Amino acid sequence: MASTPALSEDLLAKYEPVIGLEVHVQLLTASKIFCSCSTRFGDPPNTNVCPVCLGLPGALPVLNRKAVEFAALAAMALECRINEVSIFARKNYFYPDLPKGYQISQYDKPLAEFGFIEIDLNESKTNGRRKKIGITRLHLEEDAGKSLHEGFADATHKTAIDLNRTGVPLAEIVSEPDMRSPEEAYEYLTRLKEIILYTGVSDCNMEEGSLRCDANISVRPRGQREFGTKTEVKNVNSFRFVKQALEYEIERHIEVLESGGKIIQESRLYNANEGKTYGMRSKEQAHDYRYFPEPDLLPLVVDEKWQAAIRASLPELPEARRQRMMKEYGITAGDAHTLTLTRALADQFESAARTARNPKRVANLVQSELLGRLKAQGLELEQSPISMAGVTASADLVESGAISGKMLKDLYDLCFERKQDFPTVYEAQGRPEQSRDTSALEKLADELIAANPRQVEQYRAGKKTMIGFFVGQVMRASNGQANPQLVNEVLKKKLEG
Ligand SMILES: [Zn+2]
Repeated sequence: MASTPALSEDLLAKYEPVIGLEVHVQLLTASKIFCSCSTRFGDPPNTNVCPVCLGLPGALPVLNRKAVEFAALAAMALECRINEVSIFARKNYFYPDLPKGYQISQYDKPLAEFGFIEIDLNESKTNGRRKKIGITRLHLEEDAGKSLHEGFADATHKTAIDLNRTGVPLAEIVSEPDMRSPEEAYEYLTRLKEIILYTGVSDCNMEEGSLRCDANISVRPRGQREFGTKTEVKNVNSFRFVKQALEYEIERHIEVLESGGKIIQESRLYNANEGKTYGMRSKEQAHDYRYFPEPDLLPLVVDEKWQAAIRASLPELPEARRQRMMKEYGITAGDAHTLTLTRALADQFESAARTARNPKRVANLVQSELLGRLKAQGLELEQSPISMAGVTASADLVESGAISGKMLKDLYDLCFERKQDFPTVYEAQGRPEQSRDTSALEKLADELIAANPRQVEQYRAGKKTMIGFFVGQVMRASNGQANPQLVNEVLKKKLEG
């Protein structure tokens, strides 16, 4: 947990944080970016390698077309402009997991530039306050190998290298330094991941390293235009830790500056257990890498025709989808937000909503009855015992008044207990129906009317909403078993009679 001595509100308010993020996303191609080796995760170490990705002398890279298309698709989803001509460059540095001694990346002519992501500035995501975070560039590059420090016999004094990951295609997405708080950074990452997942070009699995984040952070006195000296927190493996690492760094920067010290431009590592960052090495400048154009690859040309073909496969993106769903199904912004958390959920909801009598009821059921139960049991949507067809069927039964909300809850509980879909359980229970016997209801209504003369008075004087009071009382008295429609009818008759 964050362990800097907490700074006073006044001191924190005196400074403005400036945050920019670099995100690496692994593209879901079957083979590597410059050779035909498999990109499969979890294979035995050093089995998916060849002379090209091992960097043996004389081996020549051949660009993977699919990697270009995936990166371009992601760039389009992030509102970037695709550069018709981009250039691969060698980024030279030595590291044990980089056998070539350089990484093929893109430098001054990247695949795409000038994009943005819109983030919500309030947590409920419903009042429409949004901010654009600029995306400087998206470029293609190859991944390096992996140094292993644990998990084998002599790990205490040796480091092993697995080169399976060497040459796996990455899209690096660099933001403008537009974020002003750790919360904004968190929101940016959440939106970015959501958009990339919708495009399907990456699984963004942080545990497997297919999404990695480096965060650049500096602070400046409020009102000052020039940026302060920045530090870079490398390779943080969850969005929550990015936020915590940034919170820690902001306080650390302010403390150093307030005590008359200077921030050193450096890369730092975040230790999540301690909630602290540690200096790792002084930050390289671009010129340290001696970038130069990769002589073994031609300039990458993505002409208009190719761009159009890629653009044609761009799916409807989360924000546009939310807006459309709100209009189409009459659901709230909050509903739309929850129901578009993943593309699969949105697809499933829509397939149910389109056939249901009342889409709004489906939206409510999915959120209040289905997602809650899934979460409680630690299940993914794909593992749900109740299919979307089952949700539609149950929603229609409630809609027609055949079953009550309370009965639906009980049936859902049974579905989860027995791991069976709704129609199966509904049949097995003998198609239960809520009572349509009005005599008991009428008796209840008479009693309530006698006991609440003031409310009856108000209703009869024109305050028709007062019926809600009576409906609520009857529903409570019937333990939620009464049919609300029927209750309404009976009460109306009694109150107006
Ligand atoms: Zn290879």
